[in-house]
Amino acid sequence: MSEKQEFTFFENVERSFDKAAKFTKWDLGVLEQIKACNSVYRMRFPIKRDNGTIEVIEAYRVQHSHHKSPCKGGIRFSDEVNQDEVMALASLMTYKCAIVNVPFGGGKGGIKINPRNYSPYELEKITRRYTSELVKKNFIGPGIDVPAPDYGTGEREMAWIVDTYTSLKPGEIDAAGCVTGKPVTQGGVRGRKEATGLGVFYGIREVCNMPEVMKKLGLSTGIEGKSVIVQGLGNVGYHSAKFFREHGAKVIALAEYEGAIFNAAGLNEHEVFLHRQKTGSILDFPGATNLAKNTDALEMECDILIPAALESVITKENADRVKAKIIGEAANGPCTPDADEIFLKKNILCVPDMYLNAGGVTVSYFEWLKNLSHVRYGRMEKRFTENLNGKIINEIESLTGKKVGAEEKAIILHGADEVDLVHSGLEETMIAATREIMDIWLNNDDIPDMRTAAYVSAINKVATSYAELGIFP
Ligand code: NAD
Repeated sequence: MSEKQEFTFFENVERSFDKAAKFTKWDLGVLEQIKACNSVYRMRFPIKRDNGTIEVIEAYRVQHSHHKSPCKGGIRFSDEVNQDEVMALASLMTYKCAIVNVPFGGGKGGIKINPRNYSPYELEKITRRYTSELVKKNFIGPGIDVPAPDYGTGEREMAWIVDTYTSLKPGEIDAAGCVTGKPVTQGGVRGRKEATGLGVFYGIREVCNMPEVMKKLGLSTGIEGKSVIVQGLGNVGYHSAKFFREHGAKVIALAEYEGAIFNAAGLNEHEVFLHRQKTGSILDFPGATNLAKNTDALEMECDILIPAALESVITKENADRVKAKIIGEAANGPCTPDADEIFLKKNILCVPDMYLNAGGVTVSYFEWLKNLSHVRYGRMEKRFTENLNGKIINEIESLTGKKVGAEEKAIILHGADEVDLVHSGLEETMIAATREIMDIWLNNDDIPDMRTAAYVSAINKVATSYAELGIFP
């Protein structure tokens, strides 16, 4: 029997949790409370299809932890959605938020549909009905539970959600904060779309800048020249590939569900994206070789492998054949606990999902704060900074008698825009989280891998906030 059949996704999250719990000081009861899913809402509702038939839709919202409010986590549209998967993803959100110090409890939603099989009008009806079901049960709101995009959803769906919510809650002044990942015109924040992929890049770059870690893997420090393979050319995969390429890495292979392509000289993700848009497939991309199966990309020689599609793609069945030196888990749960054991033996460093893909929730936090403060980032200080910097340059020029070059002047004068501040906040968050987890891992010889260290960090933080609430005196 394959590992996938032996353990569910939620059980695998629990297995990783239990492995780490041994390295903490908390009582069993505290650990049980942290692990448990607090609320699970399973719903069914009908929609009328474009052809006149009625279809019953299955959907979920899970609030894993209420140790902080609101709960936070994406909504997934996939025909693989089930209660166990949503519970697993909601749990990961709790740990992820704790690691990156984002003050939310974990949540997740899912609708069991393949969005490719529905028209935009049908998808809109499903999304709006799902939102009103959440409102009815008090499962959504800026202080209750705040969804975001995930697999199969994006800005468009978030715009439908905020519109439905605000129409049902007239006069609620902070209503825009009921969901994040919205288009900028609907209260979104600049920098959210690329946030998860950019966070993946920042996290891996920080790991690659650690000489002692790179030495153990037989790699040089830095990103420049490293070979990268990305599975999944959706929001997270596309942006991860983009930032690696822009910083001097070579994206040698890309995989989508219809197949995979390889080019040792490097692929440009945007050109591949346009080719796929035109032809309906990434295959037959000019200059690249088609691989026999899309999973072949996971088993090719490379420095960094980025699974950015779905969970359980590297299991005990294929982990032995993985040749990457570093795996950056951009998706949630792409590697199973049994695969982790194999990576240890093969000296492969697996950088875990629960903090590496936290860029999305980090920038969602910034968006939520923007919605509550009702002011765009940078609006108050941009002009002030530019005026002040102008005065400093003038003073330096008059004191030294030398002129600052036009290019340098433009850089120094620039006051931060919203996107500059969001990227800077994200970079700081990812660097701090990487260092915190590495500190736990490298200072305790018994902790076997980075995932366990990440769980230790998360468990300690969630338990501490329960203690601060007086729940565990
Ligand atoms: P997406 O729907 O934008 O993209 C996923 C892509 O993966 C799609 O293009 C799909 O065709 C492709 N895919 C599906 N099965 C595949 C297979 N077997 N092989 C290769 N490609 C395959 O979704 P996304 O938002 O990029 O999310 C991807 C993963 O990242 C999910 O695990 C999600 O939970 C996680 N994640 C997303 C965010 C976010 O901000 N969107 C944040 C954190 C984590």
